[in-house]
Amino acid sequence: MSKQRLRLVVGNWKMHGRLAGNATFLEAVARGAAALPGSVQVGLCVPCPYLAQVQSLLEGSRVEWGVQDISAHVQGAYTGEVAAEMAVEFGSSFAIVGHSERRAYHRESVALVALKTERALAAGLTPIVCVGETLEERDAGLTQQIVGSQLGEVLAKLSVEAAARIVVAYEPVWAIGTGKSATAGQAQEVHAFLRKLLAEKGALVANVPLLYGGSVKPENARELFLQADIDGGLIGGASLKEQEFLAICKAADISGVE
Ligand code: PEP
Repeated sequence: MSKQRLRLVVGNWKMHGRLAGNATFLEAVARGAAALPGSVQVGLCVPCPYLAQVQSLLEGSRVEWGVQDISAHVQGAYTGEVAAEMAVEFGSSFAIVGHSERRAYHRESVALVALKTERALAAGLTPIVCVGETLEERDAGLTQQIVGSQLGEVLAKLSVEAAARIVVAYEPVWAIGTGKSATAGQAQEVHAFLRKLLAEKGALVANVPLLYGGSVKPENARELFLQADIDGGLIGGASLKEQEFLAICKAADISGVE
């Protein structure tokens, strides 16, 4: 009997949320997630001020949580930054690193993203390492070169055992928040390339979960999740509405199809 592949769906709230609305949302998602099969894992990456609220409302549920960025430092005079260990103190499982909004608006380099990945792992978090090309880069035929160097820099810093503990999210910059998702075929093509790079690092790393992110909605989620190298999704806008987010989580249940 073939082993069922797990699917991971992680919401990225970005800079959204308020205490009252979060409570309704989190309770609904915790209830909805309870009905999902064990093959679907659910996470939410929230703004740091809400970690305590999320912990108190999701503890004991099927939903894990985390942060959208962490500092590359353990502690010290780094005003405004949040250490991975602080996120862990609030029960976090995940830290997104290298989101394209951080690369673009905060000039995060591939080297800094690699350092943050190391820090997350050292603190016991699962880093969700984002890679993706801009439209100009895609049009110039540079997609593989860009995502290859973004992932390559991270893999080069990690041992095989550490690399096996990351999650990678392919998020084409032109698809994020634009309503224009990559087609399942376009996403699968890049995922197959990323899978090859992971496998080159070592057999243990080949099965690292590869998420797709960029305008995933209930309508397109299933086709994306059915692709051979797409193991789930990183969900921005649609993770703000409980019904949409849960519908995407349900689409990740592809038992009976595999
Ligand atoms: C994201 O910000 O990670 C993302 C994928 O956003 P959206 O789903 O809104 O495109």
